[in-house]
Amino acid sequence: MGSFHYTAHPGRVIFGRGTLGQLAAEAERLGIRRAIIFSTPAQKADGDTVAGLLGAGAAGLFTGAAMHTPLRVTTQALAVVEAVQADGIVAIGGGSSIGLGKAIAVRTGLPQIAIPTTYAGSEMTSILGETEDGRKVTRSDPEILPETVIYDVDLTLGLPAAMSGTSGINAIAHAIEALYARDGNPVISLLAHEAISALAGALPRIADAMGDEAARERALYGAWLSGTCLGSVGMALHHKLCHTLGGMFGLPHAELHTAILPHALAYNAPAVPDVIARLRLILGTDQPAAALYALAQRVGARTALRDLGMPEEGIRAAAEQAMANPYWNPRTLEVGALTTLIANAWAGAMPA
Ligand code: NAD
Repeated sequence: MGSFHYTAHPGRVIFGRGTLGQLAAEAERLGIRRAIIFSTPAQKADGDTVAGLLGAGAAGLFTGAAMHTPLRVTTQALAVVEAVQADGIVAIGGGSSIGLGKAIAVRTGLPQIAIPTTYAGSEMTSILGETEDGRKVTRSDPEILPETVIYDVDLTLGLPAAMSGTSGINAIAHAIEALYARDGNPVISLLAHEAISALAGALPRIADAMGDEAARERALYGAWLSGTCLGSVGMALHHKLCHTLGGMFGLPHAELHTAILPHALAYNAPAVPDVIARLRLILGTDQPAAALYALAQRVGARTALRDLGMPEEGIRAAAEQAMANPYWNPRTLEVGALTTLIANAWAGAMPA
């Protein structure tokens, strides 16, 4: 087993069906009397529901949350927070809404309640990625971690099937990289194991029947555990590559993760035989990378980066960019092998 460090991050999780009904009590627990509510424009109705549940405890609703937490939006939201004299944050939605809540919390110290409706996992991390002029800067601070997370399975029943599949594979990616993290430990590996098992079992069922409540429950449970993995140990090639490609070509977050994951795992496989052995057990297959590729197809995801909008001329430049800021990875990074990896993902080929 070796020696290891394990740090638990403080946070309260409420999980189940209909748990949104506990929101007002949770706000009271945190001493929130004037909550600012955050959502994307598409989820304004969810924001209104939250406002209704908080009643006089809702100070305002800001529906401008956007992907990659643009600084411009944060500045607008901050002005609203000050204008309504908010004393707490309630963010409902995917990583975009929750990212905005985190951006405000790190600037104001206000307590946060996060109510996730996708499987991205941001609610369990003290990491915030913000963009300005097309550049994404990531920072970490204990203030960024939401105090309370309310997982309500009912809120995920309407997450469209395609988005459920890619968001779920995005979550699997956190857990897989946690299994071979340099600072990994047996507790996080247990969570990762359970997360991959829950998600890989649930996602095909959701693809067949979006409203399968038992599958939705397993998927959200897996997403929680995956988010805990992401928030606890360092990520490697897969996440760095997605960060680079997303930033260079503006590719959609969850779909990009879905297209890259089988290739990143195949690249690292020779360096992590113990992790591959574990994944064979979890996924019930001899070929975990190929199984993830098949899972992506099974949930109806696009597996070629060219279909997500990446130009072919960008392949070499992306490989060089991914090498530019060195980071730890279980297998040494080589520009030639990375170029092949990205070219395969660009074409949507089977992982090599
Ligand atoms: P998202 O939050 O942008 O959601 C995508 C769209 O789906 C939005 O319009 C949203 O309103 C809508 N949506 C969300 N839930 C829905 C539901 N249940 N039903 C119908 N529509 C719904 O996407 P995401 O993949 O959840 O998050 C991606 C963002 O989160 C990126 O900016 C990424 O960088 C960030 N992220 C950050 C971390 C972190 O730890 N800092 C972790 C994961 C993701």
